[in-house]
Amino acid sequence: MQELNKAFLMAMKNSEKKARTCMFHKCNNIAIKSHVLQKNGILREISTNNHLIEQCPPNPFELKNKGILDFKLIGINDVYTFMGFCKFHDSEIFKPIEVNTNLNFNRKIQQTLFSYRGLCQEIRRKEIASEWIKEIYDLSPIGLKHQYDVMLVGYKIGIWSLKYFKNEFEKAIITHDYCNFHFETITIPNIEMCISVPLTIGELDIPADNSFETWKKKQNRPLTTSFINIFPKGEESIVIVGYHKGFICKWTMDLLLRLKNGTRNEVFKELSDLITMRLEFWAMSESLFKKISSDDISLLKDFFRNNVYNHSPNIKTEINLFKYL
Ligand SMILES: [Zn+2]
Repeated sequence: MQELNKAFLMAMKNSEKKARTCMFHKCNNIAIKSHVLQKNGILREISTNNHLIEQCPPNPFELKNKGILDFKLIGINDVYTFMGFCKFHDSEIFKPIEVNTNLNFNRKIQQTLFSYRGLCQEIRRKEIASEWIKEIYDLSPIGLKHQYDVMLVGYKIGIWSLKYFKNEFEKAIITHDYCNFHFETITIPNIEMCISVPLTIGELDIPADNSFETWKKKQNRPLTTSFINIFPKGEESIVIVGYHKGFICKWTMDLLLRLKNGTRNEVFKELSDLITMRLEFWAMSESLFKKISSDDISLLKDFFRNNVYNHSPNIKTEINLFKYL
């Protein structure tokens, strides 16, 4: 096991150092570190001494102490980042959502760009997770290998599916024709947390032979995915939710209604549910994180361990990370 942990740690370190290419449409330039959301204007505003909390996979040697999830205080230059785009595309494409004087969250170009960047982040994270597994695969005991086989095909399905939407977004960005997408922007009470992700709700039906090709033949179309962006701005928090018109997600539309109509406490419970049950990549202020009880953090870890593969629309939890807000 010690050997396996060492290999896993190496895989994590190697992937950090690995040069990656820009994710924008057919670009082959080397990617730089891209912030998922604006560094100045969103992330810095809620930072303390230029630091924010992010959820990360734990170092394998810390699994015993920290459990399946780790939460780290990370400096503003590194927090909520990924190796996404080359220098040119990182600054050119996202200008409409990086230059503060132009911000209008009801414009389709801005809604699209937020969602596109969150989507690319998720694709890259899945690519990296697959790389880690492939690096340690040969060293792993047979039981783990079976588990990895399922995970690898899950990632492959996820990446293939998300890349369909990536391509659709890029067409829209290049042509300035956003008619295939529907977005809504609403405001909710201010909460110092940031989310920008694609969400795929529903059962992931991995075939018994763990084959991506079998799945693709049967499924033949990408998984319904919606795009959720939540971040504080001024006195409020902004919520941008959208989907491709060929793939309408009822679950997301219901969520949007609940966010629109809920009381402050109900809205915060919805956000707690998102973090607990639906996504792994977010950032929040240190002061918000400190308001979450250690009991709730333990419950969150238990829930995560037991439901890693559960994307059912019907899962529920009593956990409310934000009940002391
Ligand atoms: Zn590029």
